[in-house]
Amino acid sequence: MSRSRPDKRKHRPATVLGRAGRNPHEHRGAVNPPVFHASTILFRDTADLRTRGPNRLDDVVYGRFGTPTTFAFEEAMAAAEGGTRSVAVGSGKTAVAVALSSFLAAGDHLLMVDSAYGPTRSMAQGWLARFGVETTFYDPCIGAGIAALIRDNTRVVFLESPGSLTFEVQDVPGIAAAAHTRDCTVILDNTWASPLFFRPFEHGVDVSIQAATKYVSGHSDVMLGAITTTEETHVVVRKTAQALGATVGPDDLYLGLRGLRTLDVRLRRHMESGLALARWLADRPEVERVLHPGLEGDPGHALWRRDFLGASGLFGMILRPAPSAAYDAFLDGLELFGMGYSWGGFESLIVPSMLRGARDVAPWPAPERTFRIHAGLEDVADLQDDLEAGFAHLESRAG
Ligand SMILES: *Cc1c(COP(=O)(O)O)cnc(C)c1O
Repeated sequence: MSRSRPDKRKHRPATVLGRAGRNPHEHRGAVNPPVFHASTILFRDTADLRTRGPNRLDDVVYGRFGTPTTFAFEEAMAAAEGGTRSVAVGSGKTAVAVALSSFLAAGDHLLMVDSAYGPTRSMAQGWLARFGVETTFYDPCIGAGIAALIRDNTRVVFLESPGSLTFEVQDVPGIAAAAHTRDCTVILDNTWASPLFFRPFEHGVDVSIQAATKYVSGHSDVMLGAITTTEETHVVVRKTAQALGATVGPDDLYLGLRGLRTLDVRLRRHMESGLALARWLADRPEVERVLHPGLEGDPGHALWRRDFLGASGLFGMILRPAPSAAYDAFLDGLELFGMGYSWGGFESLIVPSMLRGARDVAPWPAPERTFRIHAGLEDVADLQDDLEAGFAHLESRAG
């Protein structure tokens, strides 16, 4: 299979999103690559079978190992993230499992940020522990101080920035530098920023994970993940994905590829609306604190300004104390903000953050008063009106 023709000039990320992973003139000029529904792949003759058959890493030899549709998505994701290679898997969670198990074995030690996505934390505490990997959770604000936690058997430092639900920004280059002096692999869950607003490979990350379920596909209708790597880290990740039989259906890959084409315009709108709502909420009497690194007063703002190119539409808020019935009235009084897990689609969402018992290093204050908001692509004035109506319900039950 030929990869798409490389561009002669180096393009900027928004341009790369539109071009990577497609080669129209290999497909009679059709702008988008065709979708291959294929399990069995036929070999031309015995010579073809003997030469290509055993090479399962990057060739089209069996559906589970990837079709031209898989490789088109992977090529586009690698270009988008600014890495060298990418491996597509069936969900963000699978991407985390493949990335971690690629670099860890029994007897190894893993350093994981305390604010990692809940199911990522449980994967370390349960599944990896069962296979003899020990995990220590570290303070998201530790920075270069991570050096003191690195043991002789520490193999991986796992980051997620900003943190899930609590939005602490990590000093990624500082942590990566300390990890590399001890030969640890640096894995980052880059889902919040998407490939556009944090460039992982420019900040010392070795392996970048995207839950492409979120902004990459962008329409709340696909489960998809990608693990993007440098050239050196690619082979072990590819082999691990194959060992686990991790694979993705062609239509989901196609939707992921299609989502990438519009990521830049969507994300800029998510950013604009998210910041506008965050600023408005910060001034509301019902709100104690907004958790958004793009706000000037946020503890992560300086690092965010230094390292990020923008903000997505996902942020948090802590409400002032009120009876739980008042919070329920607020949520039930919203019309445009749906309640549902996941985010990154075109629609606005809100959920209680459920942070009780979700942190090892420092328990989160006010776990019952913390909420997560996803600013969708609706008119932001309508979103603000909706929250205002919700607050009227809250006040009516506040007593
Ligand atoms: C949603 C999410 C995941 C998991 O992705 P799925 O596609 O739902 O499996 C991983 N990391 C982060 C930060 C997420 O928000």
